[in-house]
Amino acid sequence: MSSNADKNTDKNAAPPLPEPLRVPVADSHTHLDMQSGTVAEGLAKAASVGVATVVQVGCDIKGSRWAAETAATYDNVHATVALHPNEAPRIVHGDPDGWSRQGEREPGGAGALDEALAEIDRLAALAHVKGVGETGLDYFRTGPEGKEAQERSFRAHIEIAKRHGKALVIHDRDAHADVLRVLKEEGAPERTVFHCYSGDAEMAGICARAGYYMSFAGNVTFKNAQHLRDALAVAPQELVLVETDAPFLTPAPYRGRPNAPYLIPVTVRAMAAVRGVEEDTLASALAVNTARAFGY
Ligand SMILES: [Zn+2]
Ligand SMILES: [Zn+2]
Repeated sequence: MSSNADKNTDKNAAPPLPEPLRVPVADSHTHLDMQSGTVAEGLAKAASVGVATVVQVGCDIKGSRWAAETAATYDNVHATVALHPNEAPRIVHGDPDGWSRQGEREPGGAGALDEALAEIDRLAALAHVKGVGETGLDYFRTGPEGKEAQERSFRAHIEIAKRHGKALVIHDRDAHADVLRVLKEEGAPERTVFHCYSGDAEMAGICARAGYYMSFAGNVTFKNAQHLRDALAVAPQELVLVETDAPFLTPAPYRGRPNAPYLIPVTVRAMAAVRGVEEDTLASALAVNTARAFGY
């Protein structure tokens, strides 16, 4: 037995629908394949509160194929394809305790990584695939032994994005300096997005000068994330995006509960408050920016 009140305070319950946005925006980074319910349900729920478009992000071969298929099925879904920075070392070395949901895997060596990258290259050519990512560097989950494979994979993804003229979606966890260095060494694609932007205001200045998009997730609302709000406050309006990274990073006051694209309005409102602008003004910019970043 549980009353509605219990449901709303249940740590595992889906947060309630927020008030709809008056100006529709896009969730620039989500993982529908890791969320409960069907894709059609998730998209309908999002659309009902003004989240009209989502970018579905691939993290491995299977997920990237799925993203491309889903984008081909739904007009308001765009796909990106990649091997996640924690996936690349696992393909080379094997790592049963790692990030992958695929469980134990035999190490495949460098040849296996090349094969996987060739498949990403093939998928990146598809019309519904608008970006290459999430790729980048993650020093939080990948230790020193995986660094070499991770960086090689990152460089290969940059090359693929440039060759196909697609956006590059960066995952940067505890690796700001090296991510910026590799981008500079390789030459960043014309459209580069730092997903779940995690730098401070100083790095936001570097990104702004380079023309990199900064996509803010629900963690911008967290109490301990003043550095993100400081970064958001100084980021040029034309380079700011919003995302859920759902099912992760549910915005306050629902932190810890399952995230989904329909919760974007919660983050948009918090972002508008940080920047001291009207919600509609920010939403209009976010919509235009996401379309420009991904070229749809
Ligand atoms: Zn990520
Ligand atoms: Zn992600």
